[in-house]
Amino acid sequence: MIIPIRCFTCGALIADKYEEFVKKVKEGENPGKVLDKMGIKRYCCRRILLSNVDIIESTIPYFEVMAKRHAEFESEQL
Ligand SMILES: [Zn+2]
Repeated sequence: MIIPIRCFTCGALIADKYEEFVKKVKEGENPGKVLDKMGIKRYCCRRILLSNVDIIESTIPYFEVMAKRHAEFESEQL
């Protein structure tokens, strides 16, 4: 997958950290802790690495739960 060389928002270099990040996440480490250890602290940079297509499966369950809760909320309104 092609990752931006620099963060769109702050311009920090992120492409050099991408391969190490994906490798560690695929080995089962917590993505947030991997980013902390690598020194990527700003959320503008974190979202680029967290939302890449190689590990998006770990983020999708969150959106499925949010959609379910939204549907429940909508049905209570009627
Ligand atoms: Zn950034």
